[in-house]
Amino acid sequence: MPNNSEVGGPLAGRLDPISLKKNFSDLHPPLDSHEAAVAADRCYFCYDAPCVTACPTDIDIPLFIRQISTGMPVASAKTILDQNILGGMCARVCPTETLCEEACVREKAEGKPVQIGLLQRYATDVLMNVDDHPFERAPSTNKKIAIVGAGPAGLAAAHRLALLGNNVVILDAKEKPGGLNEFGIAAYKSTNDFAQKEVAWLLKIGGIKINYGKLLGRDFSLSGLRDEYDAVFIGAGLGNVRSLDIDGESLRNVQDAVEFISSLRQAKDLAELEVGSNVVVIGGGMTAIDAAVQSKLLGAYDVTVVYRRSMEEMPASLYEQELAKSKGVKFIYNSRPVQIVGTEGISSIKFQNTQHDTEFSLPADHLLKAIGQIMDELPLELSRENNKIKVDENFKTDVANVWAGGDCTSIGEDLTVTAVAQGRDAAINIHASLSGEI
Ligand SMILES: Cc1cc2nc3c(=O)[nH]c(=O)nc-3n(C[C@H](O)[C@H](O)[C@H](O)COP(=O)(O)OP(=O)(O)OC[C@H]3O[C@@H](n4cnc5c(N)ncnc54)[C@H](O)[C@@H]3O)c2cc1C
Ligand code: SF4
Repeated sequence: MPNNSEVGGPLAGRLDPISLKKNFSDLHPPLDSHEAAVAADRCYFCYDAPCVTACPTDIDIPLFIRQISTGMPVASAKTILDQNILGGMCARVCPTETLCEEACVREKAEGKPVQIGLLQRYATDVLMNVDDHPFERAPSTNKKIAIVGAGPAGLAAAHRLALLGNNVVILDAKEKPGGLNEFGIAAYKSTNDFAQKEVAWLLKIGGIKINYGKLLGRDFSLSGLRDEYDAVFIGAGLGNVRSLDIDGESLRNVQDAVEFISSLRQAKDLAELEVGSNVVVIGGGMTAIDAAVQSKLLGAYDVTVVYRRSMEEMPASLYEQELAKSKGVKFIYNSRPVQIVGTEGISSIKFQNTQHDTEFSLPADHLLKAIGQIMDELPLELSRENNKIKVDENFKTDVANVWAGGDCTSIGEDLTVTAVAQGRDAAINIHASLSGEI
């Protein structure tokens, strides 16, 4: 029976290992070569293809699909990776339903797009299983660039800079690379330790060194990096989360959703991970959906996402909301929490309807807060815009020789693919600037 009292609280091991393995297997199983050929055949190879315009990394989608359909998956992967070195991860995590596949002419005409994401995964998987790294570095420039953060933005910047002949040192606070690819993305989107395998593959380009356990402000400073290196790129992401600022937030089993997902991603045995019986997730973005779905898949009896605005206004796409509903997650819209109730641990949450000022309560023994991430108070003497680092169209900050990209900047959506695009473009600008081209 559901256990929703503060006496109980989250439990581990509700499901047996076989059910857990099944629940956390690939969300979209990969295509085999026959399925890939059939899927590729549906592409019209459009001139001025709208899918390309919709891709933040401008991958030549008709070209890579044609290369699959003509039996050249390795060449196809090269087309993808030329533009997006984390094309393997993006194939797994991109919200394609709001990007390339939404723009696909076959989506517009028939409501059934070409499966661009799965085809990208097919090609990149083939290439990454071939031992060779397909890129060769240009002759050395003798320039040294420091990168703060080994997330998608930092890794994409590092690869492009190394490719162009520069030497790169990445400093990251954690003990593992990948940023949110490793600690945030839902477990069923990135299975079989793919994030680590992809970084190991990326580093085969050479010329990139990663120093782990190095925290900006404690172990090094921006001014120190500027003295030691020719340029600095900041890809530190958003290390902090918003709080609800209501009574009861410090009760036991009130947890930040990113922290919950991070423990899940790092768990050696999912059966040991504690999850409530009645889980309430507050928020409306990808993090809220991922936390809710994963709670359900871990064995929570009842999971409800509560969002302060309407279904249509939710930042998570309707596709993601439907996915969560298909796993048994419930949604309550137009409601905001006003009090978390309990003595030691949480037992219920009081909400107010944002449209007609009525109140209601939900029993809860685990509350996951997913109301947005914010920047850490980084000791950076850089101008801010909307509480993030201010950059120009080339990702240059207002301090000489310092660039920034990814979630920590004030431009672009907070998506893996956007972070990759910004890291890559900043790197191209850094290289051009150091080599005197601009
Ligand atoms: C739960 C969750 C699920 C998500 N799911 C998706 C998804 O399905 N699809 C999608 O496209 N996007 C998703 N996103 C968004 C995506 O993960 C981010 O947009 C992307 O990771 C941003 O990359 P980044 O390199 O800018 O930052 P991050 O990935 O956050 O990497 C920043 C790196 O900097 C390091 N760092 C931070 N501060 C310091 C410091 N002071 N000193 C040294 N190192 C530091 C960190 O350790 C980290 O390695 C999700 C985000 C979350 C939180
Ligand atoms: S829009 Fe669709 S059909 Fe046209 S090139 Fe892109 S994937 Fe192919």
